[in-house]
Amino acid sequence: MKILVAVKRVVDYNVKVRIKPDGSDVDIVGVKMGINPFDENAIEEAIRLKEKGLATEVIAVSLGGSANQDVLRHALAMGADRAILIETDVDLQPLVVAKLLKAIVEREKPDLILLGKQAIDDDAGQTGQMLAALLDYPQGTFASAIEIEANTLTVTREVDGGTETLALTLPAVVTADLRLNEPRFVKLPNLMMARKKPIEAINVTALGIAIEPRLKLIQVAEPAVRKAGIKVGSVEELLNKLRTHEGILV
Ligand code: AMP
Repeated sequence: MKILVAVKRVVDYNVKVRIKPDGSDVDIVGVKMGINPFDENAIEEAIRLKEKGLATEVIAVSLGGSANQDVLRHALAMGADRAILIETDVDLQPLVVAKLLKAIVEREKPDLILLGKQAIDDDAGQTGQMLAALLDYPQGTFASAIEIEANTLTVTREVDGGTETLALTLPAVVTADLRLNEPRFVKLPNLMMARKKPIEAINVTALGIAIEPRLKLIQVAEPAVRKAGIKVGSVEELLNKLRTHEGILV
């Protein structure tokens, strides 16, 4: 079984993002970048399936500038076998990413396609669903556990008030939630070894898909600053304020 995993390069999740002074976008100049956290879960799951003898090859794919090689190296250091970089400097929106991934799926013919449930930069949470629709494959989104038996994939999803279990026939698209697993720590020797693994670069134009953005980003703004809290002198005073809403939750 072949597994394709999509990994996006995003602002590191520990970084407090800055907004450009004109509010046109987030300022990423000089900012630490890294693999999208949910995509790290997706890679981890693919490698675990390989280690269990259920997968034969894990291919990581990333779309973006040449700097995306770093997240692909990270995936290779975790244990992916090879990597593909779809190169472009155009800012890609989820539908375009889904169309480009479809082209790679048609070429590589994986049995399972793993993505993160959302990218922490655009928070779109759309690419996996769109890819499944374009391919007409079954999808299991926000997976917190997966199991494979023969040609059937069982996906556990966390939904409001409990869990939902789905049975999908492969090939299928699955998007990973953080609870799916705990990604392994990447050690320096593995990063060094990953340098020897191949990264195939494909210029986006070779895939013949229109990549122009359809949506225009109008403005980015900081969240509203929260008002300072207040201290109450006693439980009674607190209860009174809660009852009357005075000075609370405003
Ligand atoms: P989104 O729909 O933008 O929230 O992204 C959901 C998932 O799609 C991500 O977690 C990635 O697995 C995948 N994805 C989105 N954009 C890219 C990209 N440029 N390169 C690789 N994977 C991507």
